[in-house]
Amino acid sequence: MNYNKKTVKDVDVAGKKVLLRCDFNVPMAKDGSGVITDDKRIRAALPTLQYLLEQGAAVIACSHMGKPKGEVKPELSLKPVAARLSELLGREVIMADDVVGADAMAKAAALQPGQVLLLENTRFEKGETKNDPELAKALASMAQLYVSDAFGAVHRAHASTAGVAEYLPAVSGFLIQKELEVIGGALDNPKRPLVAILGGSKVSSKIGVINNLLEIADTIIIGGGMAYTFSAAQGGKIGDSLFEADWQEYANEMVAKAAQKGVKLLLPVDTVCGDKFAADAKSMTVDAGMIPDGWEGMDIGPKTVELYCSAVKDAGTVIWNGPMGVFEFPAFAKGTEAVAQALSNTDAITIIGGGDSAAAVQQLGYADKMTHISTGGGASLEFMEGKELPGVACLLDR
Ligand code: ADP
Ligand code: MG
Repeated sequence: MNYNKKTVKDVDVAGKKVLLRCDFNVPMAKDGSGVITDDKRIRAALPTLQYLLEQGAAVIACSHMGKPKGEVKPELSLKPVAARLSELLGREVIMADDVVGADAMAKAAALQPGQVLLLENTRFEKGETKNDPELAKALASMAQLYVSDAFGAVHRAHASTAGVAEYLPAVSGFLIQKELEVIGGALDNPKRPLVAILGGSKVSSKIGVINNLLEIADTIIIGGGMAYTFSAAQGGKIGDSLFEADWQEYANEMVAKAAQKGVKLLLPVDTVCGDKFAADAKSMTVDAGMIPDGWEGMDIGPKTVELYCSAVKDAGTVIWNGPMGVFEFPAFAKGTEAVAQALSNTDAITIIGGGDSAAAVQQLGYADKMTHISTGGGASLEFMEGKELPGVACLLDR
């Protein structure tokens, strides 16, 4: 795919104040200790940040975290991010007490080339999620250039992800460029065969992806909770499995559409079910469509694992979105793990989108075996649906 947006390399940043939108929405320990449990997103921002500093820019970084809904919530402060970022960069990160208040404005005004300022959680401002032009203008007033590198937030048209681009020249950083080149390349001009593995909890959250991938993939593999709606639609018994009655017709349509387009659509042939939704549930394996009452499907079964693993073996490209089962419970993680392992053993380009899928691959220890793990769950999903991303559309074309 030809990436057609300007990047930091296409503009002169020396001596400029640069507003850099990052995705520092990192997971924090639940105990309020301020411990960041996974700093992958902070690390992912480093190449662009370091480049800007090396080129002599003064960097005003900003990000959202969580959902404070326009209120100042101390537990969602970016202060722990500033500390971690400073460790990773090996230089001081000045923390502002607010987003566009007096403290942020004064610190931004005093910022020198080579220095980094981090604004507070942009969602402490009510105008952020409303894409309020006043907030966008206030953010823009601190800088001479806007750089977006928050891939995880590009599907949102918020003040700091899109609105600000109305008031400043706007270009992308290296992370957005990489995400769009890798995922976009797989969608536009994949090395074939292109195999898409779709799982996760609900059909309803993956409709757009299934639809769009049916147009381009050679094989589509269905797993996870949504497989049971397909099974029920075909008259299978699914016990207490995840089920969306309203989507049965859609599931059948997708099966028909795949047949009509010559896309191979694979559904589970067996399933591991549990007698309750819990880590210590009793489990047994049954053929697909044969789940007894009182039991629910929690993972794909061994025959399905074999079928799916052989389907990815000779793939040119694999796009994976959605775990094959309730991988959070070790007893029901085998299907997801087997697929992760199969991907790690292919020569295919392997792309993981979706927040939980990325977490699963990481947790199971296969992260460094994949070609690309997206940093943006919702963003990668919308990109795979073929939707326009407002945080990208607002950037200058090359
Ligand atoms: P992603 O974030 O990768 O797009 P989703 O959010 O769609 O994935 O789904 C992930 C969730 O789906 C996981 O928390 C997993 O436990 C759940 N899941 C997978 N299979 C099942 C199942 N058979 N029953 C219930 N939940 C499931
Ligand atoms: Mg998810």
